[in-house]
Amino acid sequence: MSTILFHEIVFGPIHSRRLGSSLGMNLLPYDGKLCSFDCIYCECGYNEDFRTKTRLPDRENVRAALEDKLIQLQKEGTPIDVITFAGNGEPTVHPQFAEIIDDTIVLRDKYYPNAKISVLSNAMHAGKQKVFDALTKVDNNILKLDSAIPDTVRLIDRPNSPEYSIEKQIELFKRFNGNFIMQTMFLKGSHKGKIVDNTTEEEISAWLEAVKAANPREVMIYSIDRETPEKNLEKVPVEKLKEIGRRVEALGIKASVAG
Ligand code: SF4
Repeated sequence: MSTILFHEIVFGPIHSRRLGSSLGMNLLPYDGKLCSFDCIYCECGYNEDFRTKTRLPDRENVRAALEDKLIQLQKEGTPIDVITFAGNGEPTVHPQFAEIIDDTIVLRDKYYPNAKISVLSNAMHAGKQKVFDALTKVDNNILKLDSAIPDTVRLIDRPNSPEYSIEKQIELFKRFNGNFIMQTMFLKGSHKGKIVDNTTEEEISAWLEAVKAANPREVMIYSIDRETPEKNLEKVPVEKLKEIGRRVEALGIKASVAG
């Protein structure tokens, strides 16, 4: 069983390959995982291994924890490039996500006005108006799309809703009018006897069509970096990621590659 659970509401700052010096925000239980996906590469582990009855932190506790941390970091002179909502699962499942984003914007403006606010989300809940509105307020609205082929999404990301549909997700992406960053994990291997590979030509062609339709302002391309709950997975070489990035840029969309 592998896991990197975050045991606090506010953690770090940690160095992020993609985001710089990042202060992490965990709106999920400190001793378990809560996500509407169950990705075979999730650094927090599989949902079933980390179930918990612990309640989510409420808005007031999140605000107080963030303010305390920002005051402390400011006193120490520690720089922060970004405040990142990620943590032990999907941040937008928190019922007060929208209010917490509003509080975070106020505190960021007060203590670290140059820091960006990022949200890493699987995009499953972006159809809820409050979640959508909150995501439009942050600097980096980073939404996942690991494949444009439904069977591959079911194999890699394992959304818990039978209703999940790529078409629906692309329609949601379009509503942001380019004000989002698409994030895609490329990987190879196997899971429960099935081949996992979202780097085949069929996969990349379908995914590029989805990228074109969704029209993000940027695409973040990356591969495995840490231990994954499915052990039969391998990192995609950086050269291959760069080649995919060049195909994104040929569409006129910025691509960033983290090997
Ligand atoms: S969406 Fe993120 S938190 Fe949820 S299972 Fe996938 S990698 Fe883990």
